[in-house]
Amino acid sequence: MIAPHLERIGAAWFSLLGLVAGSFLNVVIYRVPRGFALGLPSRSACPSCGHRLSWFENVPVLSYLWLRGRCAGCGSPISARYPLVEAMTAVLFFAVYRHFGLTFTTLYYCAFAAALLAVTFIDLDFRIIPDRISIGGAALALLASYWVEDLGFAKSALGAAIGSGSVFSLAWAYNKITNREGMGLGDVKLLAFIGAALGPKGAIGTIILSSFVGSIVGLILMAVHRRDLRMAVPFGPFLAIGALIFLFWGDSLTLTLYPFPQP
Ligand SMILES: [Zn+2]
Repeated sequence: MIAPHLERIGAAWFSLLGLVAGSFLNVVIYRVPRGFALGLPSRSACPSCGHRLSWFENVPVLSYLWLRGRCAGCGSPISARYPLVEAMTAVLFFAVYRHFGLTFTTLYYCAFAAALLAVTFIDLDFRIIPDRISIGGAALALLASYWVEDLGFAKSALGAAIGSGSVFSLAWAYNKITNREGMGLGDVKLLAFIGAALGPKGAIGTIILSSFVGSIVGLILMAVHRRDLRMAVPFGPFLAIGALIFLFWGDSLTLTLYPFPQP
């Protein structure tokens, strides 16, 4: 246990780190699927007029509010998604810190949550999950797993294998039965990453949770739009949501569903 005032400093620090990370994620979401480099020099510019953002136009969330959502150069509207991604990253980092405290595990799962957020918006925009995030993430998650609470190298490797293996089998069976493509290879690689970060229980839990959330959202969309939307929504965002639910509530969910001594 650490002292309450240190606890609050830690929470504030991780929220701020989340805002900054979210600002970087906006760059990742824009550039990675377009094949652009991530490195500097890369001062952000308005996509409409090319106006270069000065530092006070580039402060997470605050600048958007200060500029009232419009470019200072040409007045064209700035997407509300930029501050939204920044705020979501801050909330996730705060939640991870509250859950895991001042540990390496917190850093590990902050990076994991940030990657899932990027995957979500890239998949919504482009219908792809870049290998740089899924395969790259899986490799890093496996390498760093040694220092993570309740994970370790063996569980991480097993999680990646079970996660990608199950989604691959599901996708294959779905394709054989319905002759359509439900989940793609991108989802298989994403589950390798998720399994590497959450272990075998997390891989299975994520598949169950994401199918559940995906079915509910699918039914709502079909009821609203009155047509078959099976193809209209990519599955990556649901896998991300499922993984985050498991990250925060997986232990209690596992106990509820399987109330026997854990191996
Ligand atoms: Zn502009």
